[in-house]
Formats: sequence, structure tokens, C-alpha cells
Amino acid sequence: MLIGSYSSSLVLISLCVAILASYTALDLTGRIATAKSRAMYLWITGGALAMGFGIWSMHFIGMLAFSLPIPLGYDLTLTLLSLLIAGLSSGFALWLVSQPSLPWTQLGLGALIMGAGISSMHYTGMAALLMQPGIDYDPLLFSLSLLIAVGASAAALWIAFRLRQQTLYVRQIRGAAAVVMGVAIVGMHYTAMAAANFPEGSFCGALGTGLSGNGLDYLVLITTLAVLAVALLTSVLDARLEARTAELARSLTRANQELTQLALHDTLTALPNRTLLADRIDQAINKVAEQGGCFALMFIDLDGFKPVNDAFGHHMGDLLLKEVALRLRGHLHSQDTLARIGGDEFVLLVELQEPDDAMGVAAKQVNLISRAFRVAEQNLQISASIGIVLFPGNGIDQHELLRNADAAMYHAKSAGKNGYSFFDVSMNSNARLQLQLLQDLRLAVEQKQFRLFYQPKFDAQDCQPIGAEALLRWEHPQHGLLLPDRFISLAEKTGLIIPIGEWVLDEACRQMRAWIDQGYSGWRIAVNLSAIQFCHSGLVESVAKVLERHQLPANSLTLEITETTAMHDADASMAVLQRLSDMGVDLSIDDFGTGYSSLMYLKRLPANELKIDRGFVRDLEQDSDDAAIVSAIVALGQALGLRIVAEGVETDRQQNFLTRLGCDSLQGYLLGQPLPAEQFIVDIERARQSLAFS
Ligand code: C2E
Ligand code: CA
Ligand code: CA
Repeated sequence: MLIGSYSSSLVLISLCVAILASYTALDLTGRIATAKSRAMYLWITGGALAMGFGIWSMHFIGMLAFSLPIPLGYDLTLTLLSLLIAGLSSGFALWLVSQPSLPWTQLGLGALIMGAGISSMHYTGMAALLMQPGIDYDPLLFSLSLLIAVGASAAALWIAFRLRQQTLYVRQIRGAAAVVMGVAIVGMHYTAMAAANFPEGSFCGALGTGLSGNGLDYLVLITTLAVLAVALLTSVLDARLEARTAELARSLTRANQELTQLALHDTLTALPNRTLLADRIDQAINKVAEQGGCFALMFIDLDGFKPVNDAFGHHMGDLLLKEVALRLRGHLHSQDTLARIGGDEFVLLVELQEPDDAMGVAAKQVNLISRAFRVAEQNLQISASIGIVLFPGNGIDQHELLRNADAAMYHAKSAGKNGYSFFDVSMNSNARLQLQLLQDLRLAVEQKQFRLFYQPKFDAQDCQPIGAEALLRWEHPQHGLLLPDRFISLAEKTGLIIPIGEWVLDEACRQMRAWIDQGYSGWRIAVNLSAIQFCHSGLVESVAKVLERHQLPANSLTLEITETTAMHDADASMAVLQRLSDMGVDLSIDDFGTGYSSLMYLKRLPANELKIDRGFVRDLEQDSDDAAIVSAIVALGQALGLRIVAEGVETDRQQNFLTRLGCDSLQGYLLGQPLPAEQFIVDIERARQSLAFS
């Protein structure tokens, strides 16, 4: 029996090669797992090459580490065959672990095939020695080597399969697994070597014709290292590339999600926006159509938000809106939608068991908002007005539902705010228009969109002009010329009548001054005062200032106050009127006969003129009652020493009748329409001339 010996350095190198080959194989399986189908087969082929070459060269270096007292050579054909077997079994193994799943039966079968492959690689490699006589194998060790081959294969396959996914610490785990696998492969090799007995007198048949000689080990080693290095490098670089691609894809997905979020949500509160709301309403409508049930749509508008914004700034306003959104959202079910569709406007879509449940939800929301908000160390108090529509019932599509909810919300606002209103068809009126008009009215003051028209007053006896009444007009940029009944009450409600009234007074006096300068002396200009102006403390002063500014005698200004205004708080009115009267301003009681005139007060009022309301004049012809009233008023006025003016004179018969009754002056479309100043003068001149000729 020939006694073999091992070069310990080559044994160590063979172990290193085995570990490196294992590591490369594991790394490649990771690549294969994430590759697309075509690239996958390329990776398997390349991997099989590298891994097969690695395992084979471990085996071959192991063979080279072994020496017998006789010189050895290796048959080229059989050596190449063993390399081929190594490549094929590696390819098979890689393919197996690249499958989506690896059940135990498949793992077992794979381990058997791969184990058989590794064993046949080894024993074919041994056969390449062409020993004469043949190698004598110890059956026990031979069987053990086969067992190790299958066992190592099973372990390798299992590890490789489990390590396919890129997880945390995958490189470290893979390194450890490579050591285990390498040791197993080497163990198989040296067990098989130990099984081989070379009888005394054997000689190597491959000597001379086969591979032999010094430096063969280095050649194999370097080639192997080169192959493994290329494989590993490619794999690592590709992994990097893939990781970067994956990162890119991830950030794209993220960006996409953010875009969707942005497109469908309000940036401040992160609540759904109008677009998403529209979609949800459509869904809710469809659901009701298919499965029945009902839902409510609530239009929520904050009261008193603007003052907060104005007083504390937009930043504070934003913070408050966020808090409001949180509070409103906090008590809703997940299937309900709360959207923010404008500055301080929210819309709530709630599914209901019963239509009646809407009331509870709305009441709760109103209550939630009415509690003080603590924002940036400030206590802020606002409230909410909610308009509610129900589906089915209050509209057929989202547009109509929203419009009606909006109308109901305005109703809630005008009913005193801090509450809710259910929609009713009657609300569809012009609530919204009114609000728009109010906003426009604010602008109108700033942008000076007001004009004064003048309507002449004539002496009833000689038909000479004695002055004019200034009548306010609003040149609205969209709606054109608006008459006072469209906006005066709005201006009164909002207090805007004060600056507007001051402008009227000033403008009328400026015009009067101009006319006096043109020679129309002896006229009076009449200006209407609303109740609000009349109660305003600054009235007397501003009248005095205006008169002074335009150098007008007080007596050329008539202030017209309606009977109702004058009688409302009679004592207070009396004081104001007295001061004006003391200044010498002419005072007229407008629309006389429509209020509850108290003769007692009328007697004490320092007025100079009574204006009979148009209503009596209009019906003068048909109704004898009105004629009686008018003559009573005239008689009363005369008894109190007041001038009597009739307004709204539209016909000759009215003119004659009123003149006969004893009215002092007349005003009406018959005698002159309200006109801008220039046309007014043109008309006056024309009337004068025709009077002169007649
Ligand atoms: P008012 O003081 O009774 O003014 C007379 C209104 O009757 C004017 O309407 C005038 O155009 C209209 N009128 C004149 N002659 C006739 C006629 O023959 N037939 C008919 N049917 N109507 C005639 P206007 O200009 O629309 O003004 C309506 C009301 O608006 C005024 O009633 C007055 O109360 C208020 N107003 C007008 N200008 C001002 C103003 O500058 N300040 C305030 N506070 N109120 C104003
Ligand atoms: Ca008037
Ligand atoms: Ca009047």
C-alpha cells in the first residue's frame, strides 16, 4: 500500500477556494432571485460556470495537495469531464433555488442530484489518475463521502434559498453560511480521499500523456480566483445598480403618492379637497342608488374667522383652521368624509341610518366649534353655521346638493349664526347674491363707484325750479347702475351707510356750490339721511364741516328724514334735529303719512317741510280716501307752518289736484326724472325756456 501525504498549504488553499466559491454561489442566488426572466438564465449560466469552476478547482487543488511516493499525472479528458459535471450540478442547484418556492421534497431531490453530481465530479477526477491497478476504495468511507456530499448539498440549497432576499446583515450571514458550506465540501473531498487506497506497486497511467508538472496548482488556483472574482464583482456591481434602480423606483412611487395626496387633499389641513369630495359624493349617491339608505351633506362655514385672520394674521388663521379640522374630524366615523373646500369652508359627508340622525351630527359639530380654541397662547372664540341637505331628497347630483347645502348654510348664518339649517326650497333665493353684493359694496366705497342723480323740485304755483333732491346711484362694475333699494338696506345693516352718507352729503354740497357759482342761487339741495346716519353721533359736526368746506349757507341744504326715523326715538331725534335746526339747516319729514304720526311730536319737531308719500299721490285719482288724506295732511302742515311737498307726481291731473289742494312744491317723473348733474341742468334750462314761451 502506497502511503499518501498532503501539502498542508494546498489543503488550506483548497478550503479557502471552497469558501469563496460558496460565497460567490450564494451571492449569485441573490442576483438570480431578483432578476427578470431573461437575465435570470444569464445569471444561472454565469453562476454555474463560476461556481462549478470553483468547486472543481477546490477539488483539483485538493488532489494536487495529495502526493504519493510515485509521480502523478491527470488524464485531460476525464479531468475536463469532472469540470463539466461540476458546472452542470452547480447550474442545477442555482436553478433550483431560483424557483419561487422550495418544498421539502424538492429540496431532498435536489440535494440527492447535487450530491450525486459533486460525488461523481470527485470520483471522475480521481479516475483521471488512471491508476494501475485501480484504486481500492474503503466502502465505509466511500459511503460516508456520498452522505456528506448529499448532506452538504441539502444544507447549501436550503441556505441559498433562504438567503435570496436582500435583508439586513445579508452579507455577514452569507459569509458565515459560505464557511459552513465550504467546510462541508472540503470535508466531503477529504473523506473521499481517505477512502482511497493505492495498492503497492501502483503506477499512474496518466503520467506523460495527461496533465502534470510543477506550477499546475498555481495555474488552477489563479484561474479559479480570476473566475470567482469576475463573477463576484459582476454580481456586487449589478446588485448596486439594482439597489439604485430600486431606490429610484421607490422614490418615484413616493413622489407619485405625494402628488396624489397633493392633488386630492388640502395642504393645510390634509383633509380631502373639493376634487376628492366630489368623487366621494358621487360614490355615496351610487351606493344609495344600489343599496338604499341615505346620507347627509353638511356645508360648514366658520363665523368670525375673518376677524381672527385680520387681527392676528394669516399664520394664526392657519393654525386655527388646523385645530378646527382636528376637532371636526375627531368625532366622525372613518367612512365619513370631511373636506375643506375653501378658506373657512368645510363640507361633511355622513352616512346615516335615519335622516333624523343628521340633526344630532350637526348639533355636535356646532357645539364643538363653539368651544374656545387655544391657539398659540391665545383663546379664540368662533362658531360655525351649518347648512344640511339630505340624499335622497335635496338634490339629484353633487352640484345641486352642494349648492343647496350652501344656501341652507347662508340661511343658518342669517338666522343668527352658530347653528344649523336644513335645506328648504325657499332658501334657493338670493342669499348668496346678497353676500356677494355686500362684498362688492365694501369695494364700491373704496373705489368710489357711487354717483348722485338729481331730481328737480318745482314751485307748485309758478312751476319754477326751486332745487333738487340728490339720489344715490351705484355704478356696479357687473350689474350696471343700481338703484338705492338694491343696496341701501345692506349698507345700513353693515354700517357702510356712514361713509357712503358722508360722501353723498359732501358731493351734493359740492354740486350745489357749483350751481350757485353758475348763477342758480336760491335753490335748495335735498339730501336723504337714513336712520343709522341720523343716530350717528358725528352727524351734526359733519354737516357743519361740509357746509363750511363748500361755503354754503345752511339754509340751502335740506335734510330729508323719514317720518319713521324722526318718530322712532322722538326725544333723541328732537335733540339732533334741534341742533341742526339751530344751525339753520332746512329739515324735511320724508314719506309722510306712512308711519304712525304722532301729532304731539310733529308739533314739537323743528321741521320745515312735510313730504307727502308717493303712495297717496299715486292713488289720488281712483281713491277718494287718499284725496281726503292728502288734503288733511296739507291742512295739518299749513296749520303747523310747514311747507308741503308732494312727490311722485306722474300725471297732469295729479299735478293740478295737488296744486289746488295747496301743496307748495311738486316733484315727480312728470316734471323731471333723476338725472346726472349736467343733464339735470340741460333739462332745467329747456323747461325754463318752454315756460318763458308759454
Ligand atoms: P325717497 O327719498 O322717497 O326718494 C324718491 C324716490 O322716488 C326716488 O327713488 C325717485 O327716483 C322716485 N321717484 C321720483 N319721482 C317719481 C315718480 O314720479 N314716480 C315714482 N314711482 N317714483 C318716483 P330712488 O332714487 O330709487 O330712491 C329710493 C329711496 O332711496 C329714496 O326714497 C330714499 O329713501 C333712498 N335714498 C336715495 N338716495 C339716498 C341717499 O343718498 N341716502 C339715503 N340714506 N337714502 C337714499
Ligand atoms: Ca327723499
Ligand atoms: Ca319719499
